[in-house]
Amino acid sequence: MLKCFCGKESYIKVTYPKVKYLCKEHFIEYFENRVKRSIEKFKMLSKDEKILVPISGGKDSHAAAYILKKLGYDIELFHINLGISNFSEISLEKVKELSNFINAKLHIVNLKEITGKTIEDVKGKKCSICGITKRYLMNKFGYEHGFDTIVTGHNMDDELSFMLNNLLGWNIRYLAKHLPVLPAHDKFLKKVKIFYEIEEKYIKAYADALNIPYTTVKCKYAKKAITIRHREYLNKLEEEKPGIKYHFLYGYLKNRELFEVEKDFKFRECEICGMTSASKICSFCRVWRR
Ligand SMILES: [Zn+2]
Ligand SMILES: [Zn+2]
Repeated sequence: MLKCFCGKESYIKVTYPKVKYLCKEHFIEYFENRVKRSIEKFKMLSKDEKILVPISGGKDSHAAAYILKKLGYDIELFHINLGISNFSEISLEKVKELSNFINAKLHIVNLKEITGKTIEDVKGKKCSICGITKRYLMNKFGYEHGFDTIVTGHNMDDELSFMLNNLLGWNIRYLAKHLPVLPAHDKFLKKVKIFYEIEEKYIKAYADALNIPYTTVKCKYAKKAITIRHREYLNKLEEEKPGIKYHFLYGYLKNRELFEVEKDFKFRECEICGMTSASKICSFCRVWRR
C-alpha cells in the first residue's frame, strides 16, 4: 500500500512540483495551499471585494465557489439556465445543492426569459455561442448588481487547450487573453481564474475528497469541441514528459507581451444593449437580438 508521509493510506499521487503520495487530508491541504499561493502571486483577490462566482453544475466552478467561501471571501453564486434538455435540469439541481452546501446566495437567470430562445434553438456553432452568452450574461449581471469581480473555475487544462487552439490558428488578439487576471475596464468587471495553475484532475480529486455536490453529465454539444481533443494530446505529452504543461503555461506568462498588439484598443458601447463592445453591435446581440 502506498502511503502519505503521515503514514495514512495514499489518496492520490501528485506530480507537481514533485512526485508525492498524499492522504485525503494532506491532499486537501496541498490543494488549498496551491490555490492560496496563486491568489497571492497574481494578486487575484482581496477580502473586501464583492465576488460573483458563476457556477455551471460541474466540478470546477463548484470547487471554486467552495474554496473561496472556505477562505473567507465575500461571494455570491450565479447560474444561467441555458435550456439544454436533460443537461440544464440536472445542472440546476446541482447548483441549488451547492448553494445550500456552502451557504451562499444563488442567483439564477433563464436564457429563454431573456432572449425568447434557448441554446437548442439557435443555429451555428453552439459551443462558441454558449461561451459568448455566458460571458455576456455573467458580466452584465455582475455589473448591474454592484459586484467587483467575477471568479470562474477555468483550470490549467482549459487554459492550455484554448491557448493551443489559438496558437494553431494564430489568433494573436485572443492569445493576449490567457491570463490569470483580466483587469476591469469600461463595463467589463475584473475576471479571475483561481485555478489557472491547477490541473483538472486535482480539482476533481478535491471536490470528491470533500463531497462537494456536482454533476458529471456533459453537455451533448461539448463532445464535438476540438479543444477537448487538444486536452487529450496535452495530457499524453505530460505523461511522456512530466512538467511540459507547466513549461507551456509559464513560458506563455513570460512571453505574453508578444501578443499584446491591441493595448490601446478603444472599446465602445453596443448600439443595442449599451454594454462594452469591440464593435458596433456586441457579439451577444449579434447572436440573440437580430
Ligand atoms: Zn497524510
Ligand atoms: Zn449588445
